Amino acid sequence: QVRVRFAPSPTGPLHIGGVRTALFNYLFAKKHGGVFYLRIEDTDQNRFVPGAENYILESLEWLGIAPDETIGKNEKFGPYRQSERKELYKQYADQLIATGWAYYAFDTAADLDQLRKNEEEQGKTFIYNHHNREKLDTSLSISQEETAKRIAAGEEFVIRFKTPVDEILHLKDIIRGDVKFDTNLLDDKVLFKSDGMPTYHLANIVDDHLMETSHVIRGEEWLPSMPLHVLLYRAFEWEAPEFAHLPLILKPVGNGKLSKRDGDKLGFPVFPLEWKDPNSGEVASGYREKGFLPEAVINFLALLGWSSGNDQELFTLDELVHFFDLDRVHKAGAKFDPEKNKWFNHQYFQREDNALLAKNLNHILLQKGINRPIEVITEIVGLVKERATFVQELWELSDFFFVAPTSYDEKAIKNWKPETAELMQRLIGVLENTLDFTAVPLETTIKAWMSENEIGMGKIMQPLRLSLVGSLKGPHLFDIMAVIGKEETIQRIESAIA
Ligand code: GLU
Repeated sequence: QVRVRFAPSPTGPLHIGGVRTALFNYLFAKKHGGVFYLRIEDTDQNRFVPGAENYILESLEWLGIAPDETIGKNEKFGPYRQSERKELYKQYADQLIATGWAYYAFDTAADLDQLRKNEEEQGKTFIYNHHNREKLDTSLSISQEETAKRIAAGEEFVIRFKTPVDEILHLKDIIRGDVKFDTNLLDDKVLFKSDGMPTYHLANIVDDHLMETSHVIRGEEWLPSMPLHVLLYRAFEWEAPEFAHLPLILKPVGNGKLSKRDGDKLGFPVFPLEWKDPNSGEVASGYREKGFLPEAVINFLALLGWSSGNDQELFTLDELVHFFDLDRVHKAGAKFDPEKNKWFNHQYFQREDNALLAKNLNHILLQKGINRPIEVITEIVGLVKERATFVQELWELSDFFFVAPTSYDEKAIKNWKPETAELMQRLIGVLENTLDFTAVPLETTIKAWMSENEIGMGKIMQPLRLSLVGSLKGPHLFDIMAVIGKEETIQRIESAIA
C-alpha cells in the first residue's frame, strides 16, 4: 500500500515550498489509493516555535489537502508528534552501537572547532569520519571499559553513525534517476544527542519505518541526506522506501531558491496564511488573507515542477489527482511567478458564485457604513466581476454604484464641450419620461432620441459616463443607470453640470 508523509519541523510558518511538498504527497497518495499522513518532527527543542504546528494543520485544511492520519486523527501509528515518541529512539541508537554501525563520541564543541581549524589551515575540508577517527575522542579510539566508565561517570556523549569506507553508493531517485555518492565524503552524522533526543536523521528513519512509509517525497534540499538514510536502512536491515526529491522553487527574478525576502521585495506572500511571529510580533502576509482562493493556490503549486504533458493549465484538485504522477515531475528548478499566480486566481475568481462574492463585498460595504440589499450587491458583482481578481478589487471596481462621484477625471473633463451642459439637460428630460428604467428599454429610448435629434453618440455617452462614474471606466452604462435608478441618475447628471 502507498503510504506517504509530510514531515515538517514546527520551526515557524510553513513556507509555500513546504506546502508544495505536502501537495505532491497528497496527490501521490490519492492517485494510488493510499494514505497521506502528517508527522510533526519536533525533536530539535531549540528551534521549536509555538503556534507553528497549528499553522501547518490549518494551512493544509484551508487548501483542502488535510492528512488522513495525524495528531488526533486516525492515529494508527501514533503518536504523530516526535517529541511524544522520544523514549522510543534510544533503543534504536543502542541497537546500532551493538551491531557496530554506530559509536559513542565524547568530543566537545571546542575540540571539534580546533580540529576543523587545523584541517582548514592545511587546505582540507573537515569531514568527521574515518579520515580522522583516530584523532577523535570516541569509543572507536578508546577501549570498551574506558567508554563504559566515562558514560557511567555521566560524561556527555553523542552517538554517531559509522559510515562505511570506500564505497560508491548507487541510489535510485524516482525523479532524478541514478544518483551516486562516495561514502568517503560523508560525515559520521550524529544520530543521538547529548540532551537525550534523537537527531532528525535517526527519528525520521525510525518513524518512516514504523509508520510503514512506502515513498519519501520531499524537497531537493534533502538529497544530500539520502545516502545516510539509505545506509541507516541497511544498518537496521529494514527495507528502504522509494525516494523522490522535488525540484527547487526558484526566485521570480535572478537565480537561486525562493526566499522569504523575495516576497517582501516584490510584494507577494511566501506563506499560505498570515503569520504573526510570537517573539517579534512581526506579521508576514499569507495567500488566504491576500484574497487568494485555495483552488488557485493548489493549482499554481501543482505546476511548480510538474506538468500534465499537454497545454492544460487549469486543474481542480480532483483533476490533479487524476493526472498527477511522479514521472512527470521535472528535475530542473521551477520559477515562481507571482503574476501568473494572480492569473490563476482570476480564473477561479470568475467561477465563484456571485451571491457568495456579494456576501464578501458586503463585509467591505458595511465597514464603510454602506447598507444595500444583498440582491442589489449580487447584481453589481455580476457586472464588475470580469475585471476582478480579488474580493478587495470588487469594491474598487464598483464604488460608484454605492457613492456618487465627488471628483471627475481631469482628462475627460477637457472633452466637456460648451454645448454639453445643455445636451445633458435635455437628456434629463428624456430620462424623466422613461417609465421602464431597466437597461434594455433605457438603451432603446436614449439611442432613439439621439438619432431623431441627430446627436452623435460621443456627445452624450462620454459626459453621461463621467457624470455617473466620475471617470470613463466601468461596465455598460445602461446597466449602471438601471442599478442606481432614475432619481440617482438624474441627480448625478445635475451635480455634474452644476
Ligand atoms: N523534518 C524535515 C523537514 O523539516 C523532514 C524532511 C523529510 O521529509 O525527510 O522538512
